[in-house]
Amino acid sequence: MADIILTINAGSSSVKFSAQRIAEGKLTPLALGQIDGIGSEATFTATKSGGEKAHFALDQSRHAIDHALALTAVLDWLEGENLDGRVVGVGHRIVHGGPVFAEPVRLDAAVLRQLRAFVPLAPLHQPFNLAGVEAAIQAFPDAAQVACFDTAFHRKHPFIADTFALPRKYYDEGVRRYGFHGLSYEFITRILRHEEPVLARGKVIVAHLGNGASLCAIKSGKSVASTMGFTALDGVPMGTRCGQLDPGVVLYLMGEKKMSADEITDLLYKNSGLKGMSGISNDMRELEASTEPSARDAIDYFVSRVRREIGGLSAVLGGLDCIVLTGGIGENAQKIRHAILKDMEWFGVEIDEEANARNQRVISAKGSPTVALILKTDEERMIAAHTAELLGLKQPLEARAPTEKSGSRPA
Ligand code: ADP
Repeated sequence: MADIILTINAGSSSVKFSAQRIAEGKLTPLALGQIDGIGSEATFTATKSGGEKAHFALDQSRHAIDHALALTAVLDWLEGENLDGRVVGVGHRIVHGGPVFAEPVRLDAAVLRQLRAFVPLAPLHQPFNLAGVEAAIQAFPDAAQVACFDTAFHRKHPFIADTFALPRKYYDEGVRRYGFHGLSYEFITRILRHEEPVLARGKVIVAHLGNGASLCAIKSGKSVASTMGFTALDGVPMGTRCGQLDPGVVLYLMGEKKMSADEITDLLYKNSGLKGMSGISNDMRELEASTEPSARDAIDYFVSRVRREIGGLSAVLGGLDCIVLTGGIGENAQKIRHAILKDMEWFGVEIDEEANARNQRVISAKGSPTVALILKTDEERMIAAHTAELLGLKQPLEARAPTEKSGSRPA
């Protein structure tokens, strides 16, 4: 019977999962899926490697579907699809490891207690991540449970990239620039180390541009600064989140508009960014297809903020050898990529327009001082790799010689 690693990314109303076989230190994807509408009308969608897709409503005749029932549905489906190997490990995406966790960790009662203490740092994500852990402990009592943190990759930032200009006591109690999307950055860093070892040793910016978006400055494989801060609101504008905002705006909303903390939270997390600016959609494809000026404004603002951050992070790095674009927008949106990287020759980035239009891996021109790459991120695979490594089923990449050919997936 095959050993299976499950990855779980539990949100407020959805659970995303993947199942990967682990044999002789190699991970092979078996299935990818998601349950949406937890707490209301839940639907299950999953695709087995090879393409067969399942989509059905979950039976809620007796109970509203909660996280525990959602994971039972995953288990039933895996068994029904004859993917019923032994689930030896469950890797969880946990948004916040606070100042404490700089590496993945095996979950036990003490770790769970610590992670609950970080709920105030990520109230919209952490409680649901932890509900996923509790549900997985029930559904897979014999499997090891592993926490993989979105903050961990950034934990070795120098103090000045980790602090705000507030009295020190706030830093000491945890008000810091944590940075997020760490699993994605770590995945890309491993791919680079494997496929472009010379660039990987240099000064790199990775732009993770999806529904959530941030950029990370990486020097010799280590994160040195990120555009996201205390929460996942800071930095560049996102699908529904505002990105960088003068804190005076929040004071104005509270003082003059008498908005409550909940109302402001709702505005900044769910009704700002591309959606708020355009008044149309959080989806970049819809904005690109729209003829409304507000859609154009939202795209232009997004592009200009990403360009500013590239400039700022390059200054932090003291130069730029490579820029990687990833995430749904970074991997697919040619026009947005072009707008971000054009007219940057003075800065060392010369885009190859044809390569960009064809979504090629290298989109900088030959001889461009800075190499621009499109790389596909895979956070599920990173979580599975961490889980397998922590369980001793797989060697960490660092311990292996880079023998796989370019284009393989080393994580
Ligand atoms: P998430 O952060 O939820 O994982 P993704 O990384 O999947 O999100 O990115 C979603 C974003 O990518 C959406 O704004 C979507 O419109 C955009 N996107 C995906 N494909 C394209 C495309 N071909 N052209 C433009 N934008 C795209």
